Amino acid sequence: MKQLQEVISEERIFNVLSDAAGSSRQEAGRIIDKGRNLQGLSPKEAAVLLTIDEEDLRQLLLQAAREVKEQIYGKRLVIFAPLYLDNICHNSCLYCGFRKENQKIERRRLSMEEIKKEVSALQKEGHKRLLILTGEKRDADLDYLLDGIAAAYQVQTKKGGQTRRINVEVAPMTDKEFESLAEANIGTYTCFQETYHRPTYKRMHPRGRKADFDWRLTVMDRAQRAGIDDVGIGALFGLYDYRYEVVAMLLHAQYLSETYGVGPHTVSVPRLQPAAEAPIRKSPYPISDEDFKKLVAVLRLAIPYTGIILSTREPVSLRNQLFMHGVSQISVGSRTAPGAYQQDEQGCGKRAQFTLHDSRPMSEVVAEVAKANYIPSFCTACYREGRTGEAFMDLAIPGKISNYCKPNAMLTFKEYLTNYADEVTTKAGEACLNHHLREIKSGDKQLAQWIERAFDRMQRGERDIYL
Ligand code: SAM
Ligand code: SF4
Repeated sequence: MKQLQEVISEERIFNVLSDAAGSSRQEAGRIIDKGRNLQGLSPKEAAVLLTIDEEDLRQLLLQAAREVKEQIYGKRLVIFAPLYLDNICHNSCLYCGFRKENQKIERRRLSMEEIKKEVSALQKEGHKRLLILTGEKRDADLDYLLDGIAAAYQVQTKKGGQTRRINVEVAPMTDKEFESLAEANIGTYTCFQETYHRPTYKRMHPRGRKADFDWRLTVMDRAQRAGIDDVGIGALFGLYDYRYEVVAMLLHAQYLSETYGVGPHTVSVPRLQPAAEAPIRKSPYPISDEDFKKLVAVLRLAIPYTGIILSTREPVSLRNQLFMHGVSQISVGSRTAPGAYQQDEQGCGKRAQFTLHDSRPMSEVVAEVAKANYIPSFCTACYREGRTGEAFMDLAIPGKISNYCKPNAMLTFKEYLTNYADEVTTKAGEACLNHHLREIKSGDKQLAQWIERAFDRMQRGERDIYL
């Protein structure tokens, strides 16, 4: 088995990119067709699509990504919120507001009681899936993290408010530390490489534990060995050439799939945003909205069964376009300062990590998503039923997962509407649910009847119904 460092070497990635340069329109068209047929793409084929510049080919690519998204995920969009436990960090990432040299930031580490208050505030908005984040310490601070996860799971608010899945995005750990994390009932473990380009990585991370490129690159090997089979990878777009990062991310995904029998559960596509007191405020390699859409579409075709996550770093109009062309999970109502969900925005501005561009509350996002006939999903069924890692992919790849996903998404959305929605959101939401129920009825009457009966059970007070 090849070492990951060999798989993701600069030489190899530049070779893939230069082989792809100058490919013909016919070749691009053939690759788009292959992607449309859910066959996935090799990193080289993806690199060819990343060179597309002509408007007609761009549109063809976006359309194919839309078809793949709808075929595999249906019209669903999974919703979650980040939960920052602290903003204390011993690293010096040049782009981040939490870097240790930032003297102006108000540092904070939430107590267990404060964590519970944050979770309670998120549950009152209707959140069921959380992503826990922290800064990186000299030692892993694992007990604090594990206690924080346990505290967050304990919270139960009125009307069936509970956290049903906690994903974690924290710094790389040792094998032993990952073994403890694996026992903490987490969903996905995520860590972004930031940039796969070694010289750029070195410049961006001059000091601290994170300065070690290889330690970060091999993080998912340690996570997998420790039994964490749901992992999420990503790159921080804007630090280096986006084509390089996409090819590297796909090589990483391919390596994980070949080595552990399962590729990443998700890929994330954060774009660099200005952060207070960060030496780098502007992207050294800015990526336009058009190219950003293109890269999301290419990822959708290349790894059709892998979730794509988009955060509130992006503005509303772009988010609305991207969820049609490939994105399958979005964060909503996010705040990047510890303690910010129960406090006014002014106070949390002094503790935030970077600037966000979509500050809409949950109800507004949900109404807008529903008006586009997409089902906002709070579903956590697969993870709670043990359909993770290879078991999840065994269902996802033959397309069987959608038998579960759509009904489950509808049930969680109905639960949201019943518990939390205002009049406007309820109206949009019910119209969306009726539309999808009619669609199911035309193909599978039995399933439609089961969903209707589940809706009735919910009206009578039952919660958390899923397949
Ligand atoms: N501190 C841990 C780490 O770096 O792995 C946990 C994740 S950190 C809280 C979350 C992510 O925020 C980082 O991996 C980085 O990609 C992203 N980030 C940091 N500064 C950013 C900025 N200025 N704009 C956009 N994303 C940023
Ligand atoms: Fe710390 Fe993570 Fe920010 Fe780097 S990106 S300074 S490791 S919080």
